[in-house]
Amino acid sequence: MQLTDLNSPGGIGANCLLLQFDGLNIVIDAGLHPKLVGMPALPRLGRLRGLPIDLIFLTHCHLDHLGALPVLAKDHPNTPIIASRETEGYYKRMLQNSYQVMDRQRTELGVGEYPLYSHRDIAATTRQMIGLLAGQPRHFETNSGQRITFTLHESGHVPGAVGLLLEHHHRRIFHTGDVLFSDTALLNGARFPGGDMDTVIIETTRGATARQADRESEINRLLATIGHTASHGGSVLIPVFALGRMQELLRVFQMARADGRLKRLPIYISGLGIELLNQFDKLSRKNSSVRIRKRILRELGAVKLPDSHHPGRCGPAIYLVSSGMMVENTPSYRVAAELLGSHQNTICFVGYCDPDTPGGTLLNLQQGDKFLFKAYRKTVQALAHIEKFDLSSHADREDILHYAMERNPRAVVLTHGDQPARDWFRDRITEIDPACKVVDPEPLRTVTV
Ligand SMILES: [Zn+2]
Ligand SMILES: [Zn+2]
Repeated sequence: MQLTDLNSPGGIGANCLLLQFDGLNIVIDAGLHPKLVGMPALPRLGRLRGLPIDLIFLTHCHLDHLGALPVLAKDHPNTPIIASRETEGYYKRMLQNSYQVMDRQRTELGVGEYPLYSHRDIAATTRQMIGLLAGQPRHFETNSGQRITFTLHESGHVPGAVGLLLEHHHRRIFHTGDVLFSDTALLNGARFPGGDMDTVIIETTRGATARQADRESEINRLLATIGHTASHGGSVLIPVFALGRMQELLRVFQMARADGRLKRLPIYISGLGIELLNQFDKLSRKNSSVRIRKRILRELGAVKLPDSHHPGRCGPAIYLVSSGMMVENTPSYRVAAELLGSHQNTICFVGYCDPDTPGGTLLNLQQGDKFLFKAYRKTVQALAHIEKFDLSSHADREDILHYAMERNPRAVVLTHGDQPARDWFRDRITEIDPACKVVDPEPLRTVTV
């Protein structure tokens, strides 16, 4: 098999992988690089032009996997795009949100080429999209008579996220996508296939991080922090990703209310997270593994954060708002500007924050340091408590290593990780099975696996 990583800057970046064997050309994901703007944020899709692509797979709806799909689809308008039924249900909403962000950045950052695609391009992807149930094998035959079988397998990462099994003659190739093996309040953990594989393609996101606390104890610590803050008259800001984490925490609050770990407090949430909740409500009625209904908002008394609301001036409350990294001009940034200056309040980060984002900067401050809210030209003394909780939606490195090595693979391909993370996997795999070929693909260079 020939493999080309089209994520030109490397690292986690703009995911897009080309697999070629026996005349078949398969593309997995087409993402946008989260830290780059304009054309450089796209994978090198030019490399695919003129190549007859047989199938495009979309593993899930995070923008580092989905964000460039309309551009790829426009270049290959007759290629089927395969995703899970859940992903099919809400990927367009994610793309529309990405369009709005690019449209805003066009003026804010002066990026002339934004947006990289139009609403029409987003709508056009519908004609190619095929949503499938996980766990059901499908056969595909090309015009030239090549046959392949593929099966999507739930990967537990966000609603609809899947890994991909390709079977060609007697060769089995498995791509994990982004994966979480443990169950959460919102989703089951990954349901991956057993048996031997010829090649396993793995995500390596947490390869440089040793396992620390388990999810359950982190959730209990979060609930205790909320209780403690509220009992001292303070409010809690939890910056969250609108996709997945926000709905998971609503489910956590629902269960914690029922068993007394969380007292009744006003809960404010933000826009895209509510829209996605409505989508997930539809999915959970259709026998999907997503476990959330929109009535949860009524049960919890959770409401959309009003524009006129002033956090910190209306008594204790929970602000469960995006963005997770507190990016400028998002609801979490706005709430932080109001809560940071008082020692009564707590800001709880529950996911990864890039060090270059406002959230990352805040995490590195000492209490009492000054923090500049650039977008508001306002400096605040950081008196609120800043806490970090590990509620990652990526599996521990040991779990991924264990899954891959149990497959007795001839080769393991490393993707979706920074270099130290990939190096950890390479070293451990070589230690466990010196005969196993470890491939850490150099971007844009075609390698034989
Ligand atoms: Zn993801
Ligand atoms: Zn990802």
